[in-house]
Order: sequence, then structure tokens, then C-alpha cells
Amino acid sequence: MKNLLSKRAASLKPSATLAISAKEKELKSQGIDVVGFGAGEPDFPTPGHIREAAKRSLDRGETFYTPVGGALELKKAVIRRFKEDYNLEYKPDEILVSCGAKHSLYNLFQAVVGNGDEVIILAPYWVSYPEMVDLAEGVPVIVQTREENRWIPDPDEVESKINPRTKVLLLNSPSNPSGVLYPTRVLERLAALAEKHDLLVISDEIYDKLVYDGQSYTSFAAMPGMKNRTIVVNGVSKTYAMTGFRIGYLASTQAEVVKAATNIQSQSTSNPTSTAQAAAVAALTGPQDEVERMRQIFEKRRDLIVREIENSEGLSVVKPDGAFYAFVNIRPFYRGGKVSDSSEMAKFLLETQHVACVPGGPFGSEDHVRLSFATSEELIIKGIERIRTACRELG
Ligand code: PMP
Ligand code: GLU
Repeated sequence: MKNLLSKRAASLKPSATLAISAKEKELKSQGIDVVGFGAGEPDFPTPGHIREAAKRSLDRGETFYTPVGGALELKKAVIRRFKEDYNLEYKPDEILVSCGAKHSLYNLFQAVVGNGDEVIILAPYWVSYPEMVDLAEGVPVIVQTREENRWIPDPDEVESKINPRTKVLLLNSPSNPSGVLYPTRVLERLAALAEKHDLLVISDEIYDKLVYDGQSYTSFAAMPGMKNRTIVVNGVSKTYAMTGFRIGYLASTQAEVVKAATNIQSQSTSNPTSTAQAAAVAALTGPQDEVERMRQIFEKRRDLIVREIENSEGLSVVKPDGAFYAFVNIRPFYRGGKVSDSSEMAKFLLETQHVACVPGGPFGSEDHVRLSFATSEELIIKGIERIRTACRELG
């Protein structure tokens, strides 16, 4: 049969992060001692009170469809977090709850982007952004940030890419994969650009609770004048160690956008799972001390992995301000000729040392690999030691 696949499906790249996680699990199931730096998910169990809330919901018989965009109780819980965390006020029809923040972003791009609309994405970027923009028939416009500037975007470079087709500025601070937290002065300049060029801002704030060194965090929507043009995306996956529950959400005062994204959801997945919604209510409204406890552990691991990398001949990393990824520069090892891009490097590490990491290519840089430090200190030490051994072989 000819042309079995749509053009869209044929050109779509599978998620590199999920592919590595799958590979890591497969090797582990074969009894291979893999050190996994692949998966971008907390390794902690979901806090007990959240699991209990899920069980209670099942026992109450809450096993039916909920409203498409999420149960009112959950929308209220989301609204309460925005108010308490950022003094941002939203109404229930300004919130859409979806099956993970990834789904929120997907619905959102489908709702606001199409017909060659341009979306500015700062590189290195999360692997799914350009693909989702492509799926919406938009055009991802990549703006490089530089390692020597600590991956902090240059607003002048952003502005140089803006033209009448530019519709969205996509932000992700703290960033996956670099961990950079955009400084306030840069955020202010980006806000001024959004205003000047009348751009919609999509701010993916999924790592907002994983910020280190006592730095403070503000939602982009809380910047002066930005609330009405910013659509905030967040979720419970990272903050509450709830990746498998699949609950994410978006907030926007543009009720028209929220309604359109909800309609898209109504024709695809319907509501997110009822049990997961009940768990998310408990996460968002319950005690927040576990969040801080996990954050502190991530910060210690961040310090450890950065120290270990810095003590490794030829490897370097910009210390991440947040999230749980180290975006490690491996360029010096291309000189030996045995590996010449990030996929070859990731393959070499996996095959020779059983270390799983994600190649930088799908994040927009062939000179890097991404190591997730959502893993124990012991495995961080063991894994970096193995990477050093591999690097010695590469000369
Ligand atoms: N945005 C970023 C930057 C991410 O790293 C992730 C990773 N999971 C997501 C969104 C989506 O998270 P989820 O769908 O699990 O809520
Ligand atoms: N976001 C995580 C990561 O970057 C989980 C996998 C995914 O959804 O991409 O590893």
C-alpha cells in the first residue's frame, strides 16, 4: 500500500526523552545494571496523602466522566495555587485541566497556532515543542541561547526573529534541558517585546517549584501588564512526583482560547482520569512540606552532579538554577573521531558503560547530552565514574 501514513505522521519524530526511558527500562528488565540519567521524572514515591485521596475517590465511586475541562473542585484547587503562589486570580472558565502539561501544550498549540503562524522557541528547548508546533501547522522559529552566557536569552536576538507572522513567544524557565532560570531583567525585556509586537506568551512553568540557591520565582503572568497575554502551563508531575497520574493545566484570561482548547479536548480525550483529578486536588490543596523536602534533595543532587562533572577531564556544564537536568558539554570528545554527534555519544555511553542519557540533538544541540539527576546520589557518583571511563576511551 502506498502512502499509508499522513504527511504529518510520517515526518513526526518520536519523543527522544521517552525513547531513552523505555530503553533504560528494557535493559534493566534484562538484568543489566544500567545507570539511568534518562527519565525526566522524580524518583520519589507520590506522597502518601495524595495516594490516599486517589483511593478514597475510587471508594466513593467517582468513576464516571467529569466535565471535559476538569472537575470544578480541581479547577478551584488550581485557582487557589495561582492565588497563593503568585497572587494571580483566575476564574474557573479560565482554567483547562488536561492529561499532563504535555497535553495542555498540545491542545493550546492546536487552539492558537496554524497556517504558518510562527512560534519563537529558545534553544536548547524541550524536545516536544517544535514537534507540537509542526503538528499544529505552525512554524517553530528557533533562537539560540549560548552556553557562555549561561543559556540566558538575548532579547535583541529574540527581537531580530520577530516579524508580522510571529504569534507566540514560548518560554520555559526553569528550562528543560539547561536548568536556566531567566533573570528578572531579561524577563522584563521579553515582556516589553511581547507588548511591543503584540505577541501571545506561552509560559511553561512546570519546574516552578524546583528552583535552587534561594532564588525566588515569579510566574510570567504576574509580571506587570503580562497577565492578559500570557497563557501559563503547569502541572503536578514534577512538583508532587505524580508523572503517571497525567494531570496538567493551563490558565488564561483569554476565555476564548481556553474554550477552544477545551473543545479540542472534548473531541479527543474528554476529561482527564477522574481518580487522577482527585489526587491532584489533594496535591494542590494539601500540605506542601513534601514539595520542599524533595526540592532540597534535588538541590543536593544538583550540587553533587555539577561537582562530579567539573572533576571530569573534558566535561563541562553550566550549573542549573532549577529543574533536574544537567546539560553536559561533550564536544571535546569528538576530536578523537570515534563519536561525532550527540546520538553517537549517547549510544556509546549506553553500549560500553550502561549509562543512559538523552542526546542533545533533539533539544537543539549536538554538543551536549542531558543527564537527569532525579536519581540517587549513589547512582550519580557511579554513573559519572562510568562516563569518565567511557570518555578516557574516546581520547
Ligand atoms: N514541559 C516540560 C518542559 C517538561 O519537561 C515536561 C516533562 N514531562 C512537560 C512539560 C510535560 O509534563 P507532564 O505532561 O508530565 O505534565
Ligand atoms: N519531560 C520529561 C523529560 O524531558 C519526561 C518525558 C517527556 O515527557 O518528554 O524527560
